Amino acid sequence: MRLLVTGAAGFIGSHYVRTMLDGGFPGYENARITALDKLTYAGNRTNLPADHPRLTFVQGDIRDLPLLLDLLPGHDAVVHFAAESHVDRSIEAAADFVSTNVGGTQNLLEACLRTGIGRIVHVSTDEVYGSITEGSWTEDWPLAPNTPYAASKAGSDLVARSYWKTHGLNLSITRCSNNYGPYQHPEKLIPLFITNLLEGEQVPLYGDGLNIREWLHVDDHCHGIQLVLEKGRAGEVYNIGGGNERTNVEITRTLLDLVGGDESMIRRVADRKGHDLRYSIDESKIRTELGYAPRTTFEAGIAATVAWYRDNPDWWKTVKHADRQA
Ligand code: NAD
Repeated sequence: MRLLVTGAAGFIGSHYVRTMLDGGFPGYENARITALDKLTYAGNRTNLPADHPRLTFVQGDIRDLPLLLDLLPGHDAVVHFAAESHVDRSIEAAADFVSTNVGGTQNLLEACLRTGIGRIVHVSTDEVYGSITEGSWTEDWPLAPNTPYAASKAGSDLVARSYWKTHGLNLSITRCSNNYGPYQHPEKLIPLFITNLLEGEQVPLYGDGLNIREWLHVDDHCHGIQLVLEKGRAGEVYNIGGGNERTNVEITRTLLDLVGGDESMIRRVADRKGHDLRYSIDESKIRTELGYAPRTTFEAGIAATVAWYRDNPDWWKTVKHADRQA
């Protein structure tokens, strides 16, 4: 088995690759991986083993068709993580989001089609559904993305669907809730707050802090993706969630407890433009159809995540203060 993983040097892609190389996916202990990543500010080569006999790292752009046509032959499957992923950046400047997330996905699928790739998983997000006040989204919920990031991911989902429907590509889409865990870039809420507190700095909490997100440990997400890769049906969407709904202020207080600090460490800042109030997904399809079940409780996962950042200051200080060092 030979897989090509895009965005493999980012937070979730690198966890997926490390798990596979460590034998965490039964039946894939001998799989060889081509890790393709542009190494944007979010990509970090050190998230992957420097030298592993079953890993080949290629620095490249999913928008580069000749590169993909050269790389893809000989691979059995593609798992597609590469994306511009930070909502705040998409509000500041959306062009790269559309270019990479929509155009890059189309380019990748075109290359998969031309080179006869037999199985593809396109990794997407629950943010494509918009915001929901009550209840939870099933996979057939209408897409109503509210941010440029979410819109670009919704666009990529529709492009992916079209390559299945029109060309018959063997492709499934996953839509996951917010992830947390080790190696997440400190621009995102949980690692930003942990690392600020570790540095004795306040944490910037948007608005009233009552926005609700559903949190999933990255390891559970990766196991869900692997199930979809192995057993998901072509043309289907699978929601992956954790059932752990928390307001941002609850998350903040949990982190204050774990890292150490009181309410004075919270700095209220103006709300994010168009801030979605609540995300909540219904994941009964992947549970009943593929036997998915998250294994990490939020309490254990968040404590382990705080411990990881505490134990790995070299990793996050380099990433967080890259601008200062440049
Ligand atoms: P990330 O920003 O940590 O990693 C993205 C990776 O893609 C980086 O390594 C970056 O260098 C690479 N990349 C960006 N543009 C590229 C290009 N043009 N060509 C090749 N590589 C490129 O993101 P993440 O949090 O690991 O998210 C991975 C995927 O999961 C994304 O598609 C994202 O939309 C989706 N997702 C993330 C979450 C979350 O909570 N982080 C939740 C649901 C879905």
